[in-house]
Amino acid sequence: MCKVCEGDSAGRRNFLKFGAGALAAAAFAGAMRPARAAEGAPTSLSPDEALAALRDGNARYVSNPELCSIDLAEQRASVAGHQAPWATVIACADSRSPPELIFGGHGVGELFVARNAGNLVDTATLGTVEYGAAVLGSPLIVVLAHTSCGAVKAACDVVLKNATYPGAIGTMIEPILPAALAARGEEGDYVNNTAKKSAQRTAARLTAQSTLISGLVGEGKLKIGAAVYDLESGAVTYLE
Ligand SMILES: [Zn+2]
Repeated sequence: MCKVCEGDSAGRRNFLKFGAGALAAAAFAGAMRPARAAEGAPTSLSPDEALAALRDGNARYVSNPELCSIDLAEQRASVAGHQAPWATVIACADSRSPPELIFGGHGVGELFVARNAGNLVDTATLGTVEYGAAVLGSPLIVVLAHTSCGAVKAACDVVLKNATYPGAIGTMIEPILPAALAARGEEGDYVNNTAKKSAQRTAARLTAQSTLISGLVGEGKLKIGAAVYDLESGAVTYLE
């Protein structure tokens, strides 16, 4: 549930009455910051403010997980001419981990999302997040793993059972293998431990592989983090 829907009918009426642009100018605290349409500016959120907005959104999702009733027609109109996403999320394609919902029911024009099985970074995804940060001005990148990930389990089965997979699946999960090798024998759930290590490795590789991204990080304009989403509790835990 988003701020607009959070039992505040007055807030919702105001959202509908004044529109997204006016609300962006008003002190509309928290995660619900509609992207500006006309002026073409990036988000005004700092990296830390973007991270706080994701944290707040997930806390609302955990405590009161109802589908958001943002006025999507209104929001669509407000961002049709320009997008200013305030966070980038690299997430798994798993149908149970949609970033827009688990971070609090954000509508269109807010999160810049790249998804693939295993939340990995190939050339296409690297270019995608570079575009989000350097061109659109998104101040935060979160690599979001999740518990019980099928892609991660497949990599773990390669390590434990020498499993093989048809098509391009085996090649796709190869970047997870170093994490699966490193997590082997550790206490706890092997698949979930591997998912966490893989997300951390992927986050670290963003700066190692992209001078564009490392430059923005060096200037303090961009932060990168790894996190894991718990399918059962709905909670997102950030990894150090
Ligand atoms: Zn997954």
